[in-house]
Amino acid sequence: MTKRADHIWMDGSLRRWEDATVHVMSHALHYGSSVFEGIRVYETPDGPAVFRLEDHIARLFKSARLYRIEWPYTQEELVEACRETVRANGIKCGYIRPLAFRGAGPIGVCARDTPIHVIIAAFPWGVYLGDGALENGVDVCVSSWNRLAPNTVPPGMKAGGNYLSSILIGYEAKDRGFHEGIGLGRDGLLSEGSGENLFLVEDGVIRTPPGAASILKGITRDTAIKLLADLGHAVIEQPLPREALYTCDEAFFTGTAVEITPIRSIDGFTVGNGERPVTRAVQKAFFGLFDGSTPDSQGWLNHIG
Ligand code: PMP
Repeated sequence: MTKRADHIWMDGSLRRWEDATVHVMSHALHYGSSVFEGIRVYETPDGPAVFRLEDHIARLFKSARLYRIEWPYTQEELVEACRETVRANGIKCGYIRPLAFRGAGPIGVCARDTPIHVIIAAFPWGVYLGDGALENGVDVCVSSWNRLAPNTVPPGMKAGGNYLSSILIGYEAKDRGFHEGIGLGRDGLLSEGSGENLFLVEDGVIRTPPGAASILKGITRDTAIKLLADLGHAVIEQPLPREALYTCDEAFFTGTAVEITPIRSIDGFTVGNGERPVTRAVQKAFFGLFDGSTPDSQGWLNHIG
């Protein structure tokens, strides 16, 4: 087990990393019954700050509601526990992973009388898709695997079991020599990457697949849409055909892990002519939130005192 930090918050208090363990009969291990978030901590001129912490915890509670995970904590308590975990581990720049799951109890898929465990890990973390990804872009492919179909396992929830789809897409892409894979919906339209949302720019128009397109509506996606609006660019949320991947001038991913990462090629087609004015502008605005060059007008930064 790779130890990434000293402490993990578990069920109400901080424990040593190595002591935060679970029973092998935990329901979540057998049936995927967990919900979670990924949140970044950035170093800012005013000290470490958690990005859109309240929004992530709000989404966590929505995911939990669907799966009947009843919380022993309020959203405010969870926000505070995240802050405490960051502080306890001395994280200046890194990642927070709150997760709630059904623990060991009666066996059976629909067992409800299982304990709900909540953990928060926080650890230092860098660029997700490899060195140079933010500057040079990444090479991606369309996966042979479709994303989760609507009204099956809901793609709009951030639940552990959903990530079997992401694992299939991501492993296949990497095995074929790409950084990442893009999933199509069951209708053949674009959805998202294994862990990130997709934006395309063509002829000056910025588009992203809508919420109904088998996507998780990312908090970074929302951030990018708002930052682009501030820059005078509207983003159109609309169903997009696969061929839009091969004719666009720019493409980029958004996500907590990938931040805002340009896409350099798709299925071997170079994206545009390599110039990325829109991607560069939104990256500048996004990273500017953390060095202070973009004003935090929405109150997205939760500073760790
Ligand atoms: N789609 C999927 C499947 C994801 O796992 C993520 C990462 N949470 C995203 C999109 C991007 O969401 P966010 O910007 O909230 O991190």
